[in-house]
Amino acid sequence: MAEEFVKDKFERPIISLRITITNRCNENCIYCHHDGMISSKDEMTPDEIYKICKIAKKLGVKKIRLSGGDPLVRKDIVEIVEKIGSLNFKDISLTTNGVLLEKYAKDLKEAGLSRVNVSLDTLNRDTYKFVTNMDYLNEAKAGILKAVEVGLYPVKINMVIMKDINEHEIKDMFNFCKDNNMVLQLIELIESENCDDDKFSAEYHYTLDKVEERLADIADDVKERKFMQGRRKYYINGGEIEVVKPMDNSKFCANCTRLRVTPDGKIKPCLLRNDNLVELISYIRNNESDEKLEEIFLKGIDKREPFNTD
Ligand code: SAM
Repeated sequence: MAEEFVKDKFERPIISLRITITNRCNENCIYCHHDGMISSKDEMTPDEIYKICKIAKKLGVKKIRLSGGDPLVRKDIVEIVEKIGSLNFKDISLTTNGVLLEKYAKDLKEAGLSRVNVSLDTLNRDTYKFVTNMDYLNEAKAGILKAVEVGLYPVKINMVIMKDINEHEIKDMFNFCKDNNMVLQLIELIESENCDDDKFSAEYHYTLDKVEERLADIADDVKERKFMQGRRKYYINGGEIEVVKPMDNSKFCANCTRLRVTPDGKIKPCLLRNDNLVELISYIRNNESDEKLEEIFLKGIDKREPFNTD
């Protein structure tokens, strides 16, 4: 299977491309790492995003994920998905806070979107307001239920766990997900230079090790997802929980199969670094040949190295 993929110097196949299509967001989460992006207002057109995906497809990439900012604040989001949809990837997904999902879910599904991840850290309105600095809990929940209804399967809920804020809500969130046929992803808070307040990570960081031990005790089955950064999946009473622990986790890096693109069209070899970006968009805007664009992609892949090694 791995033979079909381009591999980096560390034998990691490049299976997925995560494109941050905007830095704009309609929420302002207290912990947000902005997908590791340097702030910039530039955005790519749907045709430019399509071109990038076309080159990626040629190099063996199987999955596209759109992220932000919030990808749904782009008014041309359906057109973007439609263009990518014409390339027949195995999987096209999108990560959103869900606030605008009720409006777009059906059109996105029809445009070729396979599934969505929706960030929802809490079911409590006050906590939601504290975390996101907005009062959109009802809109987010309506968007999530609409995504389930139109079949953006599986809907995954991304829950970043924070000490004394929402760690006590894991069970309620699991039940909400199980009742609506969704998968819960628990995410360990990442320290990031982009976090608004560096102290935040120190104050609110909550290790998921103990949570994983507890899940392992009660799970009916446990699976490890090799090509998804080695993350574990726990099956409990007909529900599913995945645990994502990127921080100081050499396994996370060793199993990373993801290349990223910034909103202003640079290849980003690592979530946690911005000192090795590779310029791409100006070559597309200059109508360079596909061979030249492939060469630039390969340069980006060549710069990939694990951030955590021990
Ligand atoms: N606006 C969209 C959303 O809310 O899902 C997409 C962008 S957001 C940066 C992508 C994912 O990164 C979300 O699931 C969010 O919870 C997660 N995230 C952001 N900052 C994080 C941090 N410091 N630690 C762990 N996960 C984080």
